[in-house]
Amino acid sequence: MAKYKLEYIWLDGYTPVPNLRAKTQIKEFDSMPTLDQLPMWGFDGSSTMQAEGRSSDCMLKPVACYPDTTRLNGVLVMCEVMMPDGTTPHPTNSRATILDDPDAWFGFEQEYFLYQDGKPLGFPSDGYPAPQGPYYCGVGYQAVGEIARQIVDEHLDLCLDAGINHEGINAEVAKGQWEFQIFGKGSKNAADQIWVARYILMRLCEKYGVDVEFHCKPIRGDWNGSGMHSNFSTKYLRETGGKEYFEALMAQFAKNMEEHIAVYGPDNHMRLTGLHETQSIDKFTYGVADRGSSIRVPHAFVNNGYKGYLEDRRPNSQGDPYAIASRILKTISEVPTK
Ligand code: ADP
Ligand code: MN
Ligand code: MN
Ligand code: MN
Repeated sequence: MAKYKLEYIWLDGYTPVPNLRAKTQIKEFDSMPTLDQLPMWGFDGSSTMQAEGRSSDCMLKPVACYPDTTRLNGVLVMCEVMMPDGTTPHPTNSRATILDDPDAWFGFEQEYFLYQDGKPLGFPSDGYPAPQGPYYCGVGYQAVGEIARQIVDEHLDLCLDAGINHEGINAEVAKGQWEFQIFGKGSKNAADQIWVARYILMRLCEKYGVDVEFHCKPIRGDWNGSGMHSNFSTKYLRETGGKEYFEALMAQFAKNMEEHIAVYGPDNHMRLTGLHETQSIDKFTYGVADRGSSIRVPHAFVNNGYKGYLEDRRPNSQGDPYAIASRILKTISEVPTK
């Protein structure tokens, strides 16, 4: 038997963007516990905007777990927040009610800024660094500084150790801005991994005196904002597709433009301006290899007979991947297949 450190992670009740919260519980197991061995737990919902002080108990229901190599016998446990009865989802529990489909695949490109002393890592103490240009996928001290590389590499290793399906990382267009990509099958699975990867990143940055800024447009002016491009495919899109289906799908995305924007992250009007590789927030367009449209259609999709995956470029870095994936699946479900 060994004492395991179970880090129960959940989303609080703050709006428009929930914060990640976590606390540790110690339990004895013979070996690394599996999800079904992890007990429900409770917390004080009055401290997280999830309950009144007089009836403050909320429940934590484990829904996914990952090894945590930062601790001896550590486990990261993603949880849903439940009402005191343990079975009714709490109103802030966005995961419980979303559409899911194990054959829907999602690739999220999470962009973010590393921040120190109120500005992006590598910005001078007053004013601005050299304009954008050399930073994207850049190398060298001038482009990336010194701590950033250490942080993103350490984050990558911790996530891979946890079994999170990272597909890559890169330095982004603005100084201090980075991206990681996670691919998962099923909306809950892919979105759980994004939330846990965000958690691992924020916790890792503590020891560097660095914060993670997920806001979609933290610096005004000629500096890119942060997105979370959402690449998606269903079984039908991958295996059948076709031009007619694709055009019907895009028409449905156009029709639901506002419903999509509503769950694509707060303050997105600051980022979706038509500049900096975005389309305006009030327009829906799609285009082959077009990074200025709402949905980018990869060349391979067209060359393959309108089969494969599509990239919705509108979701932002602060968006809730549960809600984003669910909205994409909802629109897809509204289009008849043959
Ligand atoms: P770019 O920066 O050019 O937009 P990235 O390489 O950063 O491209 O991201 C592409 C994303 O597409 C990856 O996250 C990958 O997981 C995802 N992806 C690839 N194939 C599929 C697919 N069939 N279904 C869903 N997502 C996919
Ligand atoms: Mn990318
Ligand atoms: Mn990017
Ligand atoms: Mn992209």
